[in-house]
Amino acid sequence: MKVRIVTLGCKLNFAESSALMNELVRRGWERAKPGENADLVIVNTCTVTDTADQKDRQAIHRVRRENPGARIVVTGCYARLHPKEIAAMVEVDRVVRKRDDVFLPAYSKDDRTRCFLKVQDGCNYFCTYCAIPYARGRSRNPSVESVCAQAMTVLGEGAKEIVLTGVNIGDFGRSTGETFIDLLRALDTLPFDAPYRVRIGSVEPNLLTAEIIDLVARSAHIAPHFHIPLQSGSDEVLRIMNRHYDTSLFRERVDCIRRVLPHAFIGVDCMVGVRGETDERWEAYLRFVESLPVSQLHVFTYSEREGTRMLTMDLPVVPAKERHRRSQVLHQVSGSKLQAFYAACEGVPQTVLWEGKNDHGVMYGFSENYIRHSRPYDRLRVNTFETLPA
Ligand code: SF4
Repeated sequence: MKVRIVTLGCKLNFAESSALMNELVRRGWERAKPGENADLVIVNTCTVTDTADQKDRQAIHRVRRENPGARIVVTGCYARLHPKEIAAMVEVDRVVRKRDDVFLPAYSKDDRTRCFLKVQDGCNYFCTYCAIPYARGRSRNPSVESVCAQAMTVLGEGAKEIVLTGVNIGDFGRSTGETFIDLLRALDTLPFDAPYRVRIGSVEPNLLTAEIIDLVARSAHIAPHFHIPLQSGSDEVLRIMNRHYDTSLFRERVDCIRRVLPHAFIGVDCMVGVRGETDERWEAYLRFVESLPVSQLHVFTYSEREGTRMLTMDLPVVPAKERHRRSQVLHQVSGSKLQAFYAACEGVPQTVLWEGKNDHGVMYGFSENYIRHSRPYDRLRVNTFETLPA
């Protein structure tokens, strides 16, 4: 019997789809090849924005068109929050709502070089614009010991880079009495002889302590790459969002990184157009972001999420056209920051992990501080590290 899994959304979803496929293959199913008709298609959905919901529905329509005889099962975050809506779609045979009270281990196996390793799930923060805590439940995690055992398995299977993924990974340890820095220390000292790299996923600013930054600066394996959600550069808007920090804490974290890791990659999530983001607060937001010595901005446009507290708050609404304009402005700011970052890293020695060849047959890979490099293809160098001279 042939099975296909169609995955939408975040790295966590990809890790979970990969784990699900492994389990199905272990039980005798066969992965359907591209273009091959499947007997079973599973759609693993995302619900982070309105657009994500639309993409889920489009994927379901497409899957039915491409697999007329298949059984179609829909799961994931959209299925968790809107099971009836999905079950009402003629294309769908079954909706499976994942449990949100147990930790289901998972790691992605689809990429030879890099593996997304799920280390945490759920969230207790309830930011007022976000539906994820309702889709993924409360914050939970496995033990440091079991994550390290999985990491050893992944490295033993040939992966060279482990990307730590979850919903709020800085909150690791909530269900085991351990801490995120305990996990990082253990992953930095795995009893594995060959070179390996650990890349940290998104960490909330209030959970990214100076101790963690210092550990990364001194570590042998953890990449100097930080992904930090800011979401707004206005303290009033951060309060409206129920975020757990203000702009001065955020700046203090960025300055701390730049002090000990001047060439670290710092990627920052920025959301624009949330309710309450008046023109004045937007101007403050923009000035703050422009003043930050970071590498890149990941810009998201706010979309109303059913069931979130922000919809019950009496706040001015930012028109869609203006949300789009503000998003464009931040994309431009991001472009200049990335160029400045690349220029600042000129002449700095970097170690590249070569991953494979692109559509033009050129080999590509990423440095520890997430700069993409390319070179003529050499089959023997795929999935190996190379230190490039300054
Ligand atoms: S920290 Fe906030 S934005 Fe992130 S998943 Fe939790 S509730 Fe959502």
